[in-house]
Amino acid sequence: MIETDIIIIGAGPCGLFTVFEAGLLKLRCHLIDALPQAGGQLTEIYPKKPIYDIPGFPEVLAGELVENLMNQAAPFKPGFTLGERAESFEKTEDGKFIVTTSRGTKHIAPVVAIAGGLGCFEPRKPPISNIGQFEDKGIEYIVRDPEFYRGKRVVISGGGDSALDWSIFLAEGVAEHVTLIHRSTSFRGHLDSVQKVMDMAASGKMTLITNGEVVGVDGNEHVSEVHVAITGQENHQVIATDHWLPLFGLSPKLGPLAEWGLNIDKNSIEVNTFDYSTNVEGLYAIGDINTYQGKLKLILCGFHEATLMVQSAFKRIYPNKNYVLKYTTVNGVNGFE
Ligand SMILES: Cc1cc2nc3c(=O)[nH]c(=O)nc-3n(C[C@H](O)[C@H](O)[C@H](O)COP(=O)(O)OP(=O)(O)OC[C@H]3O[C@@H](n4cnc5c(N)ncnc54)[C@H](O)[C@@H]3O)c2cc1C
Repeated sequence: MIETDIIIIGAGPCGLFTVFEAGLLKLRCHLIDALPQAGGQLTEIYPKKPIYDIPGFPEVLAGELVENLMNQAAPFKPGFTLGERAESFEKTEDGKFIVTTSRGTKHIAPVVAIAGGLGCFEPRKPPISNIGQFEDKGIEYIVRDPEFYRGKRVVISGGGDSALDWSIFLAEGVAEHVTLIHRSTSFRGHLDSVQKVMDMAASGKMTLITNGEVVGVDGNEHVSEVHVAITGQENHQVIATDHWLPLFGLSPKLGPLAEWGLNIDKNSIEVNTFDYSTNVEGLYAIGDINTYQGKLKLILCGFHEATLMVQSAFKRIYPNKNYVLKYTTVNGVNGFE
């Protein structure tokens, strides 16, 4: 049994910053994440994208921000259970929580902070019967590292920002060739990205197929071609490729958290904005996973929520202790030895 002060479900930016803010109050944290690495959406969806609205950082790559958050949390020696999904909780007689993961790892603490973001990442997969055979063998639903595609032929499907942005990025000197395939002629992404894709297609820097859909995939050990149905054409077009990226988005699934008896509104957990507590005493929800009037799903809002939440957690853990706010400039960062 792993024992700590705060069990944090989700090691995204908000979960990671909670470690720092809790650490200032001498509270220990242990993070659980279904993914094999920390960073949440920033690591999983857009590690190489610059973020412009983190206070004090005019521009920072998402991956760098995660690295900095890990460094900032390090003095407080957080524990990690990675690659395991938090499945269930039970309450002990003395009001503590036992959280059990998909692999049966048990954690106990008086406070649980849910920082589960969009929930567990489930990519929207196209209905192609043998798709599972080629997952991670040429079919990827997320671009983790664009360098992986250097010098390769890449087919991308989708009409949203992700498909447009990665098509542009990979076609600009990374991939050998990019083909973007979209079911319709109108795109859901930003207008400038759509225009850029049109311009690049017109100048031969990439191939754009509209009114088309990948309906089949083939290869031996690895993808070698995709079959495209194009409206008005009788025969499927076969495109030889090294990779096919169906970028149809990730469907947010609360997963097991939906069964935890929490008040849920449209896939998000309702909280009291006084301290981001849920309807279950001792259980808090911060970051993208919570909802309240005026909620903004932004990293900096999650940081604020984490800061207020740990104050309430401290009072729950030490009801008889008084906490006086101290500036880090005065007190420094006293880690745990
Ligand atoms: C393309 C893109 C660009 C963005 N750009 C910006 C931007 O410029 N500025 C900005 O402020 N925001 C931006 N955002 C939004 C920002 O990424 C989110 O607000 C932020 O990631 C929320 O952080 P979080 O810690 O709440 O959750 P997440 O980052 O979603 O992390 C949640 C973690 O919880 C884990 N998890 C969920 N359920 C469980 C479970 N049951 N057990 C174990 N683990 C679980 C997940 O695996 C995940 O790792 C962007 C988002 C995207 C997709």
